[in-house]
Amino acid sequence: MATGKCLCGAVTFETSGDPIATAVCHCDHCQRQSGGAFSVNVVMHESQLKINGELRTYEERGENNDDVYVRRKFCPTCGSPVVSELAKTAGVLAVKAGLLDDRSGVKPTVEVWCVDRQPWVSLPGMAVSLDRE
Ligand SMILES: [Zn+2]
Ligand SMILES: [Zn+2]
Repeated sequence: MATGKCLCGAVTFETSGDPIATAVCHCDHCQRQSGGAFSVNVVMHESQLKINGELRTYEERGENNDDVYVRRKFCPTCGSPVVSELAKTAGVLAVKAGLLDDRSGVKPTVEVWCVDRQPWVSLPGMAVSLDRE
């Protein structure tokens, strides 16, 4: 089990079991949401995550504004991104690794959306590098 919380502490969570993967996402939207160069995501089934506290949701939609493809959930008080739901893989969540209380064991082995990767970013230990998610 792992525990985590947002910056202000209004949202806490617990995870159970082993994650499906730990993935770095270089996409433009993750750069903008995080304010950093990429996001680090612990990918798990929704049954492995228990959240305490209220989240707000930002829905990312397709170009014609119909299909929701990502629901980005964040703390409404401090703005920390907490978890993203990928609409096309129902039941699978991406928990933001930076919110874990112990991040020392987080070892990303997958990177996605490398088409948007900044030229000054190079990460060791990636077993899988995909151009898109
Ligand atoms: Zn917060
Ligand atoms: Zn992304």
